[in-house]
Amino acid sequence: MNEEKAAKKATPDTTIDDLISTVWMAGRNCDREMYDDAGDEINRRFAILREKVNAIEEVCSWKIDDDGFWMTSCGNAHCFIEGNIRQNKYKYCPYCGQAIKAVKG
Ligand SMILES: [Zn+2]
Repeated sequence: MNEEKAAKKATPDTTIDDLISTVWMAGRNCDREMYDDAGDEINRRFAILREKVNAIEEVCSWKIDDDGFWMTSCGNAHCFIEGNIRQNKYKYCPYCGQAIKAVKG
């Protein structure tokens, strides 16, 4: 790692490796400003990731079509030989593992 390069002000294009090196170097040099600058950029990126993770659907929605196939929100088609989701004791989608939520067409 080139210390001169890592010491540059953090930008959205700064690699994680460089941010980590900057934090390490700032700690070693007791440079609070450099430490906070890199830390702020790391926290900014984590906030973006957290938002994206929270946006991920926590249930798999199943909607039955006219042919009796359950179309899942994770992109699969499921057909029970007999009965519905509840009668077959399905609680979780066998494709994505999320809890199943039956929705009306
Ligand atoms: Zn699913």
